[in-house]
Amino acid sequence: MKLDHNIPYKIYLGEDEIPRQWYNVRADMKNKPAPLLDPATGKPLTAEQLEPIFCKELVQQELDDETPYIDIPEEIQDFYKMYRPSPLVRAYCLEKKLDTPARIYYKFEGNNTSGSHKLNSAIAQAYYAKKQGLAGVTTETGAGQWGTALSMACAYLGLDCRVFMVKVSYEQKPFRREVMRTYGASVTPSPSMHTEVGRKICEAFPGTTGSLGCAISEAVEEATTHKGYRYVLGSVLNQVLLHQTVIGLETKTALDKYDIQPDMIIGCAGGGSNLGGLISPFVGEMLRGEKDYQIVAVEPASCPSFTRGKFAYDFCDTGHVCPLAKMYTLGSGFIPSANHAGGLRFHGMSSILSQLYHDGLMQARAVEQTSVFKAATEFARVEGILPAPESGHAIKVAMDEAIRCRETGEEKTIVFGLTGTGYFDMVAYQQFNDGEMSDHIPTDEELQKGFDGLPQVPGQD
Ligand SMILES: *Cc1c(COP(=O)(O)O)cnc(C)c1O
Repeated sequence: MKLDHNIPYKIYLGEDEIPRQWYNVRADMKNKPAPLLDPATGKPLTAEQLEPIFCKELVQQELDDETPYIDIPEEIQDFYKMYRPSPLVRAYCLEKKLDTPARIYYKFEGNNTSGSHKLNSAIAQAYYAKKQGLAGVTTETGAGQWGTALSMACAYLGLDCRVFMVKVSYEQKPFRREVMRTYGASVTPSPSMHTEVGRKICEAFPGTTGSLGCAISEAVEEATTHKGYRYVLGSVLNQVLLHQTVIGLETKTALDKYDIQPDMIIGCAGGGSNLGGLISPFVGEMLRGEKDYQIVAVEPASCPSFTRGKFAYDFCDTGHVCPLAKMYTLGSGFIPSANHAGGLRFHGMSSILSQLYHDGLMQARAVEQTSVFKAATEFARVEGILPAPESGHAIKVAMDEAIRCRETGEEKTIVFGLTGTGYFDMVAYQQFNDGEMSDHIPTDEELQKGFDGLPQVPGQD
């Protein structure tokens, strides 16, 4: 391995280089992402309509398509200092292993107890809830990363945190559940008898192990029926992408500092928050006509929203209590195959990323989970970090590209987002290690069932 001694192995910025403002890429978009619609009327939702569900300032951020930079409150900046700036690491060992002329960098967001980038938005959302004088927040969690991040943020601010955790995960991932409880959150397996919608679902589907869509419906009901509570969400929304731009802004500062020009930027895409956060400052340059980059979203072949979805208005949840968002979607009734273990299971995609993809500013690739775990395992063995399966999607495409560069001799600079660690995903790694993991690619007929459930929206094709 040959180090470039002009550039640090890991580029750590100083605390004073943590961004003081988030960057709102919508301000530079000519084609703005479509507004959230009220499912009852088909009209754009107003701030007044959103405020009973979400915190006031977060509603402002959600609806603001014009302000390019939004100040990060000092208390959030201070919290960021507990675990930021996150390092931008040169993947020397991976380059050597792949024998590639490509230069590979990754931005590592797993260096905090929640183990992922989700803390960047959790602290912001909890902060605004606190500032509004609320007693607490409610949310859903699937595998548990978002619930964990939110419980940490709420513990820091002294807010109550009520998490509805998909029942099957609650039972199969007791460690995640106990991390959340250790941080003081209450964790309820969903569907539960605790909410009206939960009781209905339990009655209609006795013995059901739950779904994310169902947990969202319960969390929203919990917030709207309790005084002093609001609902918060860990991905998909514009506000979440905004908070996650700390990732991209730090990455850009680090690259600029050492005069490194990335050619390709890669990230995994579930609801789009880490990818949106990573690419926003770079896409901003593209939108302003200053620079050009190849930007790639990576998604599971078993949940292919970008590559096989439709760009249409859809519900964000299975219970249809949430607003309609225009996005690349597989339909709110779509449920990925039960053997899918690699995360990124959401049926839709951030409206911002959907619009950028639609306008040709980014590409997308779908990859199969066995190839993802293979790449994640190779990465762990040479780079030391045990990646989250979600992050493995980005690793897979970065490695494919590096191998392609070996064949063409291209000295491409590749940057990818390493969103988190996989210590709580060892059951999935075990399946892979035992050779028991399989791939499922939905057929066109299976996808059509999801598309058949797309809502009719007046004035939309
Ligand atoms: C939640 C999560 C993701 C996917 O969510 P996005 O909103 O698409 O970023 C990716 N990686 C990790 C580690 C996660 O916890």
